[in-house]
Amino acid sequence: MSTLSEATRRRTFAVIAHPDAGKSTLTEALALHAHVITEAGATHGKGNRKATVSDWMEMEKDRGISIASSALQFEYKPEGYEGEPYVINLVDTPGHADFSEDTYRVLSAVDAAVMLIDAAKGLEPQTLKLFRVCKARGLPIITVINKWDRIGREPLDLVEEIVTEIDLQPTPLYWPVGEAGDFRGLAHVDDDGEVDSYVHFTRTAGGSTIAPETFYSPDEAESKEGDAWETAVMEAELLAGDGAVHDQQMFEQCITSPLIFASAMLNFGVHQILDTLCAIAPAPEGRASDPAAVEASTSAMDEFRELDDEFSGVVFKVQAGMDKSHRDTLAFMRVVSGEFDRGMQVTHAQSDRSFSTKYALTVFGRTRDTVDTAYPGDIIGLVNAGSLAPGDTIYSGRKVQFPPMPQFAPEYFQTLRAKSLGKYKQFRKALEQLDSEGVVQILRNDLRGDAAPVMAAVGPMQFEVMQARMENEYNVETVTEPVPYSVARRTDAESAEELGRQRGVEIFTRTDGELIALFGDKWKLAFIEREHPELTMEPLVAD
Ligand code: GDP
Repeated sequence: MSTLSEATRRRTFAVIAHPDAGKSTLTEALALHAHVITEAGATHGKGNRKATVSDWMEMEKDRGISIASSALQFEYKPEGYEGEPYVINLVDTPGHADFSEDTYRVLSAVDAAVMLIDAAKGLEPQTLKLFRVCKARGLPIITVINKWDRIGREPLDLVEEIVTEIDLQPTPLYWPVGEAGDFRGLAHVDDDGEVDSYVHFTRTAGGSTIAPETFYSPDEAESKEGDAWETAVMEAELLAGDGAVHDQQMFEQCITSPLIFASAMLNFGVHQILDTLCAIAPAPEGRASDPAAVEASTSAMDEFRELDDEFSGVVFKVQAGMDKSHRDTLAFMRVVSGEFDRGMQVTHAQSDRSFSTKYALTVFGRTRDTVDTAYPGDIIGLVNAGSLAPGDTIYSGRKVQFPPMPQFAPEYFQTLRAKSLGKYKQFRKALEQLDSEGVVQILRNDLRGDAAPVMAAVGPMQFEVMQARMENEYNVETVTEPVPYSVARRTDAESAEELGRQRGVEIFTRTDGELIALFGDKWKLAFIEREHPELTMEPLVAD
């Protein structure tokens, strides 16, 4: 098969959800439907799946790979579909209780997101931020309302909340028959907003195997389900009457979002999620080079990499020391163009150095398999690729360099230092490595010196990761201290001088050379902005 047809049959997506919304359960259910596993529970192997912070830290200590971004790949053929099976790449997002930059970076490596919402809770604050990031970057979102087998909210109420909070219009594709807690099946809504069929689900013991599905016409459904059917049709058509019907272009621009109700636990609606991904989620596309890199380059460079050009890929996550016995560094890469063959010689665009890809893996959960060939949309882990950082490009043939990974606005700040002065050297070394992996952003200035830099993070859990890894991998115990800042702005050398004279403001240099000003709070910032409109204070935004 050509690279182009391999790319066309691929669907690469991530599930984003608030902790507890059912991401692990859904991942298992998807794997079950794809016949990767025969019984739910096999990928995680833990009966009580809820990972608490301490659990998670234990896992990290144990270098548990399950907290790292990894990808599950499987083939899937929708019912009655005649062509080659689809190849689904489900990219995992960190499962811990707050959203760090890792999650945002994963979003840059996928072509769509599945937004998983708990039917009883609706949109939850932590997740809202992520949904807005998807929306801002135009990443297509498929909305799944999960746990419909439990008592929850009114479906129209949940739709309304998504419209108001994210400015995203859900378009019903599979509307629930039976209220939350009485999940009988799904009414399918066609592109004209008409309900055209009904799938009824039968529970299996504990939901651990695929739930049998029976299909009915609308008339049959009405006599089978009575009022529940009528209500479902009325609600779905009410939305359609309001213009909430699927439109491929509006979906791809993240203006609308196809909506599916499901129960990951009972395996209801899981088939429908997969079928929807195959039918409408975008296939991988080529990617443009970073215009600044093209301009600065002395050698010829591709301005755009087409899918069937030579191999190129972009690194979106680097993780060291995941395997205690090997002490390796794993760089996760998404193939952008061409065919990747293990062992091929590739070049790292940022350093112009070449290296061999003898050790390339697919990674999911604790399982690693050697990968021999990969195509656009696939995710592979490159072992001992220590020089690679998130956002880096690797390629073969003509040079290409993709735009750098966006840095996200940190909101949490702390200093970090080695507990014992004797460990200073190891501390420096560890800091350098973790900085290159982008675990946190590191801010320095002359005043504070190098022994206790300020770490800036998108979520507080990133500090804990940093400390745990310092201890486990470099044997350095560290202490953190709070700093009195909560807002960061990018500035320039000229403004930095004046800003540095203000009370409650401190100026730092980030590792990438950017000058960063930290402010006590947003009121302080607003005050200085009013008093000194001439100074540069740019938000560190997501794009
Ligand atoms: P995660 O934190 O998003 O990965 O959530 P989990 O998959 O670990 O699920 C959190 C809890 O919700 C677990 O106790 C699951 O059994 C439960 N759960 C997940 N999906 C469903 C569902 O569809 N229905 C019900 N009733 N419970 C669910």
